[in-house]
Order: sequence, then structure tokens, then C-alpha cells
Amino acid sequence: MDNTNNEEYCHLCHRPASEAGKMIHLPTNICVCNDCLQGTINSMNNMPFNFGNFGFTQAPSQDNARQEETEPEEGTEDTAENKEKKGPTISMINLGDIAGMFPGMGQGVKVKKRDKDKPITPIIDLKDIPAPHKIKEMLDEYVVGQEKAKKIMSVAVYNHYKRVATGTMDDIEIEKSNMLMIGPTGCGKTYLVKTLARILNVPLAIADATSLTEAGYIGDDIESVLTKLLQAADNDVEKAEQGIVFIDEIDKIAKKRNTNHRDVSGESVQQGMLKLLEGAEIEVPVGANSKNAMVPMVTIDTQNILFICGGAFPDLEEVIKERLNKESSMGFKADLKDKYDEDDNLLLQVKVEDVRKYGMIPEFLGRMPVLFALEALSEDMLAKILTEPKNAILKQYRKLLELDEVDLQFDDDAVRQIAKKAKEKEVGARALRAIIEEFMLDIMYEIPKDDNIGRVIITGDYIENKGAPTIVMRNIPRIEQA
Ligand code: ADP
Repeated sequence: MDNTNNEEYCHLCHRPASEAGKMIHLPTNICVCNDCLQGTINSMNNMPFNFGNFGFTQAPSQDNARQEETEPEEGTEDTAENKEKKGPTISMINLGDIAGMFPGMGQGVKVKKRDKDKPITPIIDLKDIPAPHKIKEMLDEYVVGQEKAKKIMSVAVYNHYKRVATGTMDDIEIEKSNMLMIGPTGCGKTYLVKTLARILNVPLAIADATSLTEAGYIGDDIESVLTKLLQAADNDVEKAEQGIVFIDEIDKIAKKRNTNHRDVSGESVQQGMLKLLEGAEIEVPVGANSKNAMVPMVTIDTQNILFICGGAFPDLEEVIKERLNKESSMGFKADLKDKYDEDDNLLLQVKVEDVRKYGMIPEFLGRMPVLFALEALSEDMLAKILTEPKNAILKQYRKLLELDEVDLQFDDDAVRQIAKKAKEKEVGARALRAIIEEFMLDIMYEIPKDDNIGRVIITGDYIENKGAPTIVMRNIPRIEQA
């Protein structure tokens, strides 16, 4: 629909005023045509439950309104007779109230707006921002390996919140610390961001770039990410304006390489994101994913929002390899051709030019000054993920069985076997839970059957289907005969 002329359109039937007649203006900048409004009122009144009175007769006079607020005087109860004296019950319709009755319409949500004239209250006070090494220490408790990534993120986040707290974002044009992280699936990209937001106690919204579309297309508008952020910030605009947005699968909106056709899908979504990334005031629908009729809007300034994009960028290694070969060959390319073939972590050598060649547009990359890669998880790292983090999966199972007073143990061989199986699946740490769940099902089912079981040791043989777990019975106290 072309809305470029100044004609008003009904928000419900989308007919222009020239067709539908004079528009009725309702709160929150909504206008509807007479037919739609009447239709809405009729259908509300016909519903089997009582919404109150949607009579749309005449506006209450000030006196009347005041009278309605006060307690009824004695003898003026709402009897039919009295009603007649007072005239019809009067109440103006508020389309917002109607919208609030439908889930997802965003009405009924109380949004705490920010006073534009006041300087922002920092979400983290300057003196409370943990130093980079402290942030990294906290990340270490949860995230295994990825030392370089943790270091880079800690510094970037520290700088970001320092700028927000001191309000220097405006005066000195310091680049925002938006980050682009590259790493194979399941290596901890999302987990790092989630952990970071949790330890800093800032709101976080996670979106998938594949579902994002340009405004007007089917799918989530780019602004919908901010709607999610607002929700995560308990509808407090000021809090949301200092939150973190993580956009996953960003490689899916890369321009298609090696085609003669102009690819507009991914590129235009990248274009659409530019404004958001560098800082702008964006109109955001409250409580719904896209702008439509009856959804109230709120303005969010993205200047202090930290954007982190992540993606697996499959085949990026090829681009990196090509560049490295070119750089190092100096005419001896043939000798060095397979020098990088065995390198598992070629991604760590990524440079902006590689990502650009992959299909991210320069303007987008310019707004993502912090670029880094994560390691692919090795078998050793997977084994550590099983046992070391504060909320490691094996610790969780131990805790569960502890509640049944059973001591669950995994011997070293078992941990190694699980890690090995997971590595083979090539989906990073994601495979771990699936593998464990498969064999733990029997354990969790069988053990509570027998109260005498005191300890269960999961062995490597059991993981490999070559044997059973070791079961140790409780010391049953002897009952003394009287
Ligand atoms: P992706 O890189 O695809 O975003 P995720 O961060 O979603 O992967 O990882 C999936 C799960 O694997 C996480 O929820 C987390 O439990 C676990 N995980 C992945 N990497 C690590 C890591 N380095 N340390 C600890 N746990 C990890």
C-alpha cells in the first residue's frame, strides 16, 4: 500500500478517507472509519461476557464525570428509575481498552517512558562497573575456553558502560563497541552474551537474523528486536535504552556471493539495521512484533544499546585461506597451497575484509568495530564443559539424584567418551545434553525404584554400550532384635 500521499487510512480496513468517509481519531494516533468503529462496538456488545458499557453516545459533562467518581448518594442507587432520571449511562469508548482484551495487541501494558529533558540515569553506576578482569573472571565461572573472546568482550563491555555512565557518548565521538562474533555452531556465542547480560544485570534481547525482514514484509520487522528488549526491561524505556541486543545467525543476511543477480534480500536487511546500530530514535511497537493497527508505539533511542551480532559464517574459512595463501605465497603459491588445510581454527585469523568478501556490506561492518572469532570446541574443552562450569550438566544431574539421596558419579573415562561422542556430532556443546539425556533416562527411571541404592558410577563402558554402571548399595543398619 502506498501511504506516501497525505490521505488518512482506516487502521482496520485500510480504506482511504476518500472511500470510507471521514475518519474518527482515537488516542495513540489511531484513526478508524465509521463502519469499522461501529462494527467493533457491535461485536463487543454481542459477546457473551460483559465488557462494561461501550455505549458511544455523548461525552460526559465534567459534572457528570465527577459525580460518577464519587460514592452514590443515598437513594440514588442504580435503579432503573434513577437511571432514567440521570439519562443513559455515559462512557466514552477507548479503543485501547478493546485492544487490551486481545493478547499480543500490546495494550494494557504500562510503559515507563523516559523524560527526554533529563540526562539518563546509568543502569550501572560508574563506580559499580566491574573492571575488565573482573568481568572475565565472572565469565570464566561459566564459559569454558574462548579466552581471547572473553577478554575482548570484557574490555568492550567495560568501555561501553563507562561511556554510558559518564554520558560521553555525545561529546567525544567515541565509536560504539558493537561486536561481531564469529564461531562455529554450539561454541558458546549465545551463552557468552547471556552470561554477560546476567552478570551485569542488564536487559537482553535475542533475535534471529533469519526472521528479520525489511519493514512491510512478512516476518519480524527489524524494530521488533527493540520490542523484545523493552519487554526484557520490564517496559522501562530508560533501562531498555542501555540494554544488550544479540542478533544471531547474522551470516544468513549476507549478500549472496558469486551470483550475477543483484541480491536484495540480505543486503536490504543489513541496510535496514544501520540506523539501529549507530544510534537513532526508533518508533517501536509495544507488545507486538510489528507495527499495525491498535498497537501503541514508544520511542527508543538506540544510542546506548550495545549490539552484538553472531554467526557461524560457514565456508568463511575458504575466504580466509584464500587471503592467507595470497599473502604468504609471494609467487610460491603452489608450495603453500595446503598449508592451512589442517588448521582447525582458521576462523581466529578473521579480518574485516574477509567478512566483507563473505557478503556483509561495508556500512554494516563499519558499525561493528569489535570483530573476533571463537574457537571450535575440542574434545578436552567439551569434557571440561561437562564438569567444570558452575552449572555444568553433570553437576545438575548429581544434584537431581542427591535429592533421592543417591550419589551419582561419572568416572574420567565416561566423561571422555561423552566428549568424544559429542565432538563427532559437530554441533559443539549442544550435542552434550542430547547424549547424556539418552543414557540418563534409564538411570533416572530405575534408580528411584530401589531405596537401597546409595551410589551409581557411570563408566566409559556404559557410555559405549559395553557394560552397566557400577551400583553401590547403601549400608543398611542392622535392626537389633529385642
Ligand atoms: P552458539 O555458539 O551456536 O550460539 P550456544 O551458546 O547456544 O551456541 O551454546 C549451546 C549450549 O552449549 C550453551 O547453552 C551452553 O550450555 C553450552 N556451551 C557452549 N559453549 C560453551 C562453553 N564454551 N562453555 C560452557 N558451555 C558452553
